[in-house]
Amino acid sequence: MDLKINGKRALVCASSKGLGRGCALALAQAGCAVTLVARGQDALDTAVAEIKAATGARVDGVVADVTNQEGRIKVLTHLPDPDILVTNAGGPPTGDFRTFSHEDWIKALDANMLTPIALIKATIDAMQARKWGRIINITSAAVKAPIDVLALSNGARTGLTGFVAGLARAVAKDGITINNLLPGLFETDRGLAVIAAQATAQGVSQAEAKKVRESSIPAGRLGKPEEFGAMCAFLCSDLAGYVTGQNILLDGGAYPGTF
Ligand code: NAP
Repeated sequence: MDLKINGKRALVCASSKGLGRGCALALAQAGCAVTLVARGQDALDTAVAEIKAATGARVDGVVADVTNQEGRIKVLTHLPDPDILVTNAGGPPTGDFRTFSHEDWIKALDANMLTPIALIKATIDAMQARKWGRIINITSAAVKAPIDVLALSNGARTGLTGFVAGLARAVAKDGITINNLLPGLFETDRGLAVIAAQATAQGVSQAEAKKVRESSIPAGRLGKPEEFGAMCAFLCSDLAGYVTGQNILLDGGAYPGTF
């Protein structure tokens, strides 16, 4: 399918690994010029080289921490006016909420709520002027069904979701769509770290905890980053211009509700 975004410039945050990388790859496959961002140089260089080799697209990388102002300035100096913005950052730590300090909450809010809002604020006016833009926020299935060990994520991401619900409607007439992708459990470093935390909390081995989690997912397995990337690329496509303000679950059927 021609997604009709050949030549669009995409900024994909937190993308040397995992879900961000899946999005970067799919956008490059669709013909976008893609800028990847991560804090670690080596994994970023590897991801840039592999995506470039696999797609022939224009792909580059910026080493930066998107959760601080300095890092965002570095990224936005490199690419100030992307047509497509994918916000993403590492998830907050797991644990019992009684153990989290005020600073832990501020850090989670900064990374998983205020950082995406700052990136959107910095790029949306140029999208409005061009009458075209696509914004995807990688959030979590925790927004729809809270996860026991992820109180910080449950709280911070829901704040972003409320903000986006309002903004998406305000800019829809300007050809801009804003949608959130809600991953369930994916086969990435982070997904496996969450399973490890659950194993510790339940006093079982990681292999056992993984088996239990897989059996609780109707698809019977964890998701793959390329499946996540494919949904991201479609929502960023010109064909998806009538889909905005949505929260799309990618969870192998794990959420049990009818809607
Ligand atoms: P991952 O496999 O651990 O990859 C994280 C990527 O983000 C790496 O490339 C990492 O590189 C980069 N990164 C992390 N913090 C960054 C920062 N502050 N600035 C720039 N780059 C940063 O994680 P993932 O599974 O793809 O998860 C992505 C997001 O989805 C997370 O917020 C996670 O909590 C959420 N999520 C994941 C799952 C799942 O099952 N995987 C489920 C629900 C929600 P560097 O470390 O080098 O910066």
